[in-house]
Amino acid sequence: MNIEFNKALKGIKIYEAGKPIELVVREYGIAPKDVVKLASNENPIGTNPAISKVIRSHADIAHLYPDDSMFELKAALAKKYQVEDTNIIIGAGSDQVLEFISRAVLDENASVLMSGVTFAMYEIYAKQMGAKVYKTMSHEHKFEEFMEAYNMYRPKVVYICTPNNPTGDATSKADVIRLIEAMGDDTLIVVDGAYMEYAAAKDEKYRIAPNDLLGYDNVIYLGTFSKAHGLGGMRVGYGIAQAPLIKELYKMRPPFNITTLSLRVAIEATKDETFVQESVALHQEQIKRYEAFAEENGIRYIDSYTNFITYLFDDPLNSSYISEELLKRGVIIRDLASYGMNAVRITVGTEAQNSTFFRHFSEIIA
Ligand SMILES: *Cc1c(COP(=O)(O)O)cnc(C)c1O
Repeated sequence: MNIEFNKALKGIKIYEAGKPIELVVREYGIAPKDVVKLASNENPIGTNPAISKVIRSHADIAHLYPDDSMFELKAALAKKYQVEDTNIIIGAGSDQVLEFISRAVLDENASVLMSGVTFAMYEIYAKQMGAKVYKTMSHEHKFEEFMEAYNMYRPKVVYICTPNNPTGDATSKADVIRLIEAMGDDTLIVVDGAYMEYAAAKDEKYRIAPNDLLGYDNVIYLGTFSKAHGLGGMRVGYGIAQAPLIKELYKMRPPFNITTLSLRVAIEATKDETFVQESVALHQEQIKRYEAFAEENGIRYIDSYTNFITYLFDDPLNSSYISEELLKRGVIIRDLASYGMNAVRITVGTEAQNSTFFRHFSEIIA
């Protein structure tokens, strides 16, 4: 191949998504029903039953483009969050909103700042634009670490992922606001709340609503239907910010960027919070088992504000070995070796899935 690709592509490592069930079936000959996938922070109980109904009743809409204004979905979100529809942009996952942000403000002269271990896509989108990527030392969003790096590099975009993926820790609302107020208004600050439903239910201090940040014209809040709402496969997320910022991001948006079906499904999902509450309640029950297991077996873990838990290993336990052995037994988790950690991230599953995990995991670490 003799094609000269954009220079920016050189430093990009392709995003490695959680391994799919299909791969385990193919490579290890395990029946799909026996595979336990705890790798991608999906909702283990699936999605709101009302969603299946919507999908069935929209079986004949594939030929129609969606309402590109996304009027109904924006109205529903505006109501839920007490904002205006002009404050909202919808993406194919909040991932796409991250991409709009990156393309709207970054170029090869710009830089971005994020925590030491955080959502991998921030870096990839920034690098696509040729921007430099700076990270703080720790995975927590520590004020001093952020401000030192901020003053040194003057990044155009700062990412605050709370709760943080893939570590599970969270930054309190007060600490997020302290960071925002200490930074200049020429910096776009992204507050990524993909797991906010879980953090808010665990401790009010960590609850951040879009409205808490709407007073700042350089801040955008991101939310998604992929996690607590159980709609990862539908690809719908959103950004909420002051109207002038949203207007600029709209210039990067392709028409019809979510599907007709995704749009209907997301509208339905905003109508019922019961499913989310049930999901969070089940999660809160089940995560206790992971904490207890870790304590009984002398494994360190990060106190989690998300729907997953991160186990930290010490020699001779090795995260890659453990992940591989689990995979052979049909259990998919996320090895964090590529983040430079001897750790694994496990999505908390249903009671039965978690029992399967503990059974195999005990065997492997014995
Ligand atoms: C899952 C996730 C997202 C976005 O997911 P989408 O499916 O693209 O909406 C964004 N940020 C973090 C930290 C996530 O874990």
